[in-house]
Amino acid sequence: MAEIVLEGVTKRFPDGSVAVRDVDLAIADGEFVILVGPSGCGKSTTLNMIAGLEDITEGTLRIGGRVVNDLAPKERDVAMVFQSYALYPHMSVRENMGFPLRLAKVDKTTIDSKVEEAARVLDLGDFLDRKPASLSGGQRQRVAMGRAIVRDPEAFLMDEPLSNLDAKLRVQMRTQISRLQRRLGTTTVYVTHDQTEAMTLGDRVVVMRQGLVQQIGSPAELYDMPRNLFVAGFIGSPAMNFVSASLAGGTLRTPLGDLPLDDRARRALEQRGAPPEVIVGLRPEAFEDASLARGTGGPVVTATVDVLESLGSDAYVYFQAEGGPVSTAELEELATDSGLRDTGAGASQQIVARLDAATRARE
Ligand code: ATP
Repeated sequence: MAEIVLEGVTKRFPDGSVAVRDVDLAIADGEFVILVGPSGCGKSTTLNMIAGLEDITEGTLRIGGRVVNDLAPKERDVAMVFQSYALYPHMSVRENMGFPLRLAKVDKTTIDSKVEEAARVLDLGDFLDRKPASLSGGQRQRVAMGRAIVRDPEAFLMDEPLSNLDAKLRVQMRTQISRLQRRLGTTTVYVTHDQTEAMTLGDRVVVMRQGLVQQIGSPAELYDMPRNLFVAGFIGSPAMNFVSASLAGGTLRTPLGDLPLDDRARRALEQRGAPPEVIVGLRPEAFEDASLARGTGGPVVTATVDVLESLGSDAYVYFQAEGGPVSTAELEELATDSGLRDTGAGASQQIVARLDAATRARE
């Protein structure tokens, strides 16, 4: 079993700064877990502690049931894939991929067959005798993956492996990594600051900020039930809109107008002991063109199109909301991406907010 379990793991650097604080995380055998968060939040440090590239200041790390705090990287049976690929320029693809096995004194016939097998899985068969310099970024990335695969390790640890690739290749490689991980069933911990990667690749996602875990959950849980404002604003693109609101009986009074609460939502707020002042998070898809909306019961807001970004299949429309019970200066910019006509920048249109597509978060 290649479970990875962190208990109260903390990293304090010699200068006194604490990069990772009291992290508890249990990764199941075969699970694909993503560490995501803004730059400097401690995700690489966490991964490096699992790999053995950084000491653990406090806490316990277990891999496959063994406490590995004091084991050297090579004794942990994990394979790391770096953003830089870290290939040896003077070695062929075949030699690069077989390198970890040569280090482990595996016999040549076994190395050859493992390299051939990995090359087949990664579609690198035609490149085995080439040097890294003559490969594209995506091919080099695959060689780096191949070097991890040949060892058949307990776990893959990947630190932003796609960030040197262009946008199109990133998407291709993302799918390939997902397929490969499912096929091999190897426990994988993957660091990224890209929330699309996090949401598409992970069985579970760990959102970090300033060394602290903010939430651990499936992509759907993070999207639908963010535990705090940070997660709510970090997950989702375009980002969630936030408006302040006061609770008055069965209604949320917001600068956009009154949002009626259904019984379930009211009960949930009561159970949490919500204060009279709350913050309402409205996902972009919570807004609809008022002329097309069918009895949603939300307030109709007159808004001016600020910026319109057309992506072909979707359009992101950024609005400045007008009117309403408070002045525009107090309103957040609204972003919406569904059911809206392309009326062009500067145009005014009526939009309606649906509370069933809203997420309430409170810090
Ligand atoms: P990025 O996405 O930018 O790589 P990250 O989330 O991976 O960021 P880490 O590299 O884990 O962040 O760094 C976490 C914090 O620890 C940062 O504030 C960083 O400056 C600090 N840090 C990293 N290495 C050291 C070190 N050797 N000494 C002191 N502080 C360090």
